Amino acid sequence: KPGEQVENGGAEGGPKKEEDDEEISVAEKALLQKIVRKGLIENKNDIEVQRKDPSSPLYHVKTFEAMNLKPALLKGVYAMGFYAPSKIQETALPTLLADPPQNMIAQSQSGTGKTAAFVLAMLSRVDTTKDYPQVLCLSPTYELAIQTGEVAARMASYDPDIKIRFAVRGEEVNRGEKITEHIIIGTPGKVVDWALKFRFFNLAQITVFILDEADVMIATQGHQDQSYRIRKGLTNPNLQIMFFSATYDEEVMEFAEAIVSNPVIIRLKREEESLDNIKQYYVQCKDKEEKYQAISNIYGVITIGQAMIFCRTRQTSMWLAEKMKKDGHAVAMLSGELTVEQRIAVLDRFREGKDKVLITTNVLARGIDIEQVTIVVNFDLPVDMKRQADCDTYLHRIGRTGRFGKAGIAINLVDGSESFAVLKQIEQHFGKKIMKLDSEDVDEIE
Ligand code: ADP
Repeated sequence: KPGEQVENGGAEGGPKKEEDDEEISVAEKALLQKIVRKGLIENKNDIEVQRKDPSSPLYHVKTFEAMNLKPALLKGVYAMGFYAPSKIQETALPTLLADPPQNMIAQSQSGTGKTAAFVLAMLSRVDTTKDYPQVLCLSPTYELAIQTGEVAARMASYDPDIKIRFAVRGEEVNRGEKITEHIIIGTPGKVVDWALKFRFFNLAQITVFILDEADVMIATQGHQDQSYRIRKGLTNPNLQIMFFSATYDEEVMEFAEAIVSNPVIIRLKREEESLDNIKQYYVQCKDKEEKYQAISNIYGVITIGQAMIFCRTRQTSMWLAEKMKKDGHAVAMLSGELTVEQRIAVLDRFREGKDKVLITTNVLARGIDIEQVTIVVNFDLPVDMKRQADCDTYLHRIGRTGRFGKAGIAINLVDGSESFAVLKQIEQHFGKKIMKLDSEDVDEIE
């Protein structure tokens, strides 16, 4: 379908849904999503194979042992705590590791194991007897490149002969020097400089080319053109191309087809979210102050698990965070004025469970799945620009996919007739009752 961009709950591209007062780039969202991820996202859907080479049937391999990996790499995989391949890995890895090499375009949401798959494939292809770059991995940003490099270094820790070099800002090569590392992980601009301008390495010697986070790549000015320039220099007859994206739409697929010739195309659709297993409540309040009081009353209950509190504006979220802190409640806040490093630190602490409550605004949280959250508080109900219920955002915040058997709780704070009407719209849309809760009597929450 044209313009289909369901993977992030329609997060990017479309019209803004609320009075957003802070922006976050697609690249940063992808990074934050990685930071907050605890482990693999399971997905009950089947892999869709959209195109394959009829002469070599696609097969699935259910164990890492059956993939004929080098022993040191198998050891590295186990040391990372991976016991069995993820769904996308079961299908992608046999193709990525096959001989003769095959090109692949793979799409699945963030957290499904794409990075681990291509890192394993690229490490397997390295010939450490040759001291020049053979693998080139393009990432859209400095931070994403570093994340990938860290995975590669960990997975290669039992094969210390494999050397990796980052081509990112801050890294320099002396004029006239030739790069001897086997793997280059970098951003397009720096790679263009190193390969085409200064010739620190020879693109024609690259036998594995990975383009990661393709959807983020095309959202960044200039990256697509730089990718094409790099692609042109990749003339090795044995070149294998691996192309990955978290989302799927026409633009990404056009980019993919322009980069990758004769690909096997696989896709794992995101699981539908639902409100089954979610207990939904609302608390009737008079105003903002009463909403605050309601949160204070239920603080003890919401901190049994981990909770997120959504506010419509940054102003409200800052006000709430200040007030809660003053009252001695431990809360963290994710907001627009933090630096990237600070945001990473906030999400790191939340992932580790050091903070139990995270206050945020819509924009920052939209499209970031924080799966360990068991309680969601809508300090403000999600509405669109016409102040009607934004049911998609509601579902994305609160809904769970089939894999979560465990129950979740949603608490909606309502003040005034307008927000009560929004609540009723949401109730009607999903056909599920939202129960009234007396915040003085939180024992009702199970
Ligand atoms: P993606 O690139 O699709 O976002 P990643 O490769 O980063 O996914 O994997 C998501 C998370 O799952 C990471 O924390 C990673 O360490 C973990 N992971 C990846 N593959 C496996 C596996 N086979 N078994 C267990 N955990 C895995």
